Amino acid sequence: MNRIDPKLAATLRRPDELVARGLARAADLPDLEQVAARYAVAVTPDIAELIDAGDPADPIARQFIPSAEELITSAGENADPIGDDARSPVAGIVHRYPDRVLFKLVHVCAVYCRFCFRREMVGPGKATALSEDAYQAALDYIRQHDEIWEVILTGGDPLMLSARRLAEIMADLAAIDHVKIIRIHTRVPIADPARVTPELVAALRGEGATTWIAVHANHPREFSANARAACACLADAGIPLVSQSVLLRGVNDDAATLEGLMRTFVECRIKPYYLHHGDLAPGTAHLRTSIEQGQALMRALRGRVSGLCQPEYVLDVPGGHGKVPVGPSYLSQDRDLARETRYRVVDYCGEVHLYPPIDNDGRG
Ligand code: SF4
Repeated sequence: MNRIDPKLAATLRRPDELVARGLARAADLPDLEQVAARYAVAVTPDIAELIDAGDPADPIARQFIPSAEELITSAGENADPIGDDARSPVAGIVHRYPDRVLFKLVHVCAVYCRFCFRREMVGPGKATALSEDAYQAALDYIRQHDEIWEVILTGGDPLMLSARRLAEIMADLAAIDHVKIIRIHTRVPIADPARVTPELVAALRGEGATTWIAVHANHPREFSANARAACACLADAGIPLVSQSVLLRGVNDDAATLEGLMRTFVECRIKPYYLHHGDLAPGTAHLRTSIEQGQALMRALRGRVSGLCQPEYVLDVPGGHGKVPVGPSYLSQDRDLARETRYRVVDYCGEVHLYPPIDNDGRG
């Protein structure tokens, strides 16, 4: 892997450091200090190197450099936008669907995304760190619920843990007979790829349960040579990789960027999985699109790339009610034909067809 210049090798965590690196304006410092007092800030050297400091609309900066707009809380936004708390039977566990749980192991990340749906819960000093007793109680909960087939490690970013600790956790989970799948959601291969060492990869492979990894990225430029190498290490170890992205205004809300992102995932052996509609996290309205814009982009994507490159566009229903695909729909019933049910099908060019088709006599 390429090495980062040692002079730039520290993660930037304070607004004055961002100003000193030319990644934020000195005039904005008072506002950014207010933002940083509420929401964690971290920009790793790998991410800082990707930012074009001369471009005020840089899509990487928009994801990681704080903005005064985060001080505005809009209607509908709340501290727990996808309802984790409502579905948490014990600390660290979210049990929203019968066959799977989220296991929130850590409350820290390599970088802090400005749109984070758990921004009130992640970051240094947050009260959501899991103690050893709470960890054991969470394991007990999983043991006692034999309907749990899949455990999704999330946080925070689970790959912030040491390889040794991750190996222990993977072994603890794999020792539970009914846990067959351990899925890890992470931004580390993109934001701090040097953490993906042979020891970490060995820890993740585990034994007794199948590991899947969901890699979070939102713009094709996030795939630096180091990030691609980290993803390749995971894929070479036989770990299946899927993607997760968030649709973000000014980052990836155009068809060409989304196409580039999905193609890059596939080139890196990461199957596109989820494109999330932006959650109603506080201070994130400036980064959200409308659902109609998201549907139009998904329609455009369908016409540009193969099914291999198609993610599912999903909305997490506020209140803890889970994810739903939000279209677009290509099928509707044709109500004008009383004789029998027919469907109107929209093809990838936007042309409408009837199914089953009607022959020249008007018969099906
Ligand atoms: S890596 Fe994930 S949990 Fe951490 S700040 Fe970004 S979106 Fe939030």
